Amino acid sequence: MNLQAQETTVQVPQFGKGKKYLIITLGCQMNEHDSEVMSAMLENLGYLPTESLEEADLIIINTCAVRKKPEDKVASMLGKYYSLKKKKEDLIIAVGGCMTQQEDSAYYIKNRFKKVDLVFGTHALPRLPHLLDQARKNKEPIVDIKEDYAGREGLPVKPISSYHAWVPIIYGCNNFCAYCVVPYVRGRERSREFNDIISEIKSLERQGYKEITLLGQNVNSYGQDLPEKITFAELLGELNRITGFNRIRFMTSHPKDLSPELIETVKRGEKICEHFHLPVQAGSNRILEKMNRRYTREHYLQLASDLKSAIPGVSITSDIIVGFPGEGEADFADTLDLIEKVRFDSAFAFIYSPRKGTRAARMEDNVDYKEKERRLQQLNQVQQKISKEENDRLVGEVLEVMVEGPSKNDPKMQTGRTRTNKLVHFPGSTELTGKLATVKITEARTWNLFGELKGVVD
Ligand code: SAH
Ligand code: SF4
Repeated sequence: MNLQAQETTVQVPQFGKGKKYLIITLGCQMNEHDSEVMSAMLENLGYLPTESLEEADLIIINTCAVRKKPEDKVASMLGKYYSLKKKKEDLIIAVGGCMTQQEDSAYYIKNRFKKVDLVFGTHALPRLPHLLDQARKNKEPIVDIKEDYAGREGLPVKPISSYHAWVPIIYGCNNFCAYCVVPYVRGRERSREFNDIISEIKSLERQGYKEITLLGQNVNSYGQDLPEKITFAELLGELNRITGFNRIRFMTSHPKDLSPELIETVKRGEKICEHFHLPVQAGSNRILEKMNRRYTREHYLQLASDLKSAIPGVSITSDIIVGFPGEGEADFADTLDLIEKVRFDSAFAFIYSPRKGTRAARMEDNVDYKEKERRLQQLNQVQQKISKEENDRLVGEVLEVMVEGPSKNDPKMQTGRTRTNKLVHFPGSTELTGKLATVKITEARTWNLFGELKGVVD
């Protein structure tokens, strides 16, 4: 029997008291944010966080479905967690997120991993406390993959960072790019009410957060589905005016909707960071059309040039897919040509991964896998050279950096981020964490910069 959740807002007892939880998050920033919401809900139930699998009484995997690789990871993780259940009988294992919002994946997990207690999709997030309450009482696994958007507003959140917070402004996506599963697993576009965003942001400000990132699959379509229409540029301009954050970031921008009004707002807004994550995906018009991206390479090149001339020092980053069905040598050459022309600060490149139910999955995937790997490697080489050259231009400059904490490789070094989202490592003490500092850049590498501390701003 599959037990579907019946209620969305049932009060449940604090059954997490004296227990510990661990959430493993795969995928994008929206998933990271969802995990922060789960954390807050679990702590309201009495659970405390732990980093140790052995200590955990509740393990949640927050899955990603964008490519096959993160999906494969879930099966291998679950295999490992099974042995933990032998040692701790009342351990609860839950699997949620984008992968499990898809019916076939949800039931594959339920049927293949019989000891999983709860399988829930992205839309079930508000119902998590109630679902866990059912899961701990039932022997049968619970599945909740209803496409019910209710209850998302006003959920608690516990940001991982003490100075930076993610703020979703629009959920879902209406774009249906041919390769992409996101519209199927995150549902249609739903903009949050302006006043709800403002009150969350004001509360973050009162708690001392210095930096926010506004999140959406396509932030540029913010507000178009609200009764009182408002553009993303208007929202951003208003946040710049009324909030006291040092930095306001946003992602992701879809090239078809990036307006001149937005460029102007970023140029004028002193708190708004000069960074656009503007995924191009491909440089060939033929492939862009097959991908249903609804812009041309000429449009993209014009946008990049407009951004660079309007906003000095702006950084533009991208996602690129290689080996999309039908991508020939000439198409790939167009992509290489585009990245040489735009000169991205950095770009994530992926081999096309067919996703069930998408339009591209029905196209003939005729590019040999070895050839896809070759293209990925060649593209990465070209982009890495460009990233290094763009970073070289910063040597000698004094940049404002938000300090994130000790560097992973060397605890004597601190790591921070420039307004343009570049990583900077410099010698400094841990007291600098969460502070704004100025750093003189002394060395540039492909992925990061090195420098010396000049001063503390805030
Ligand atoms: N909303 C964002 C990105 C969402 S998914 C946007 O519109 O750009 C993040 C990235 O994963 C995409 O930009 C794309 O490059 C990559 N991606 C999505 N589906 C993919 C697939 N089927 N195969 C390979 N890469 C994919
Ligand atoms: Fe996927 Fe395209 Fe929507 Fe981005 S805009 S989430 S790539 S469908």
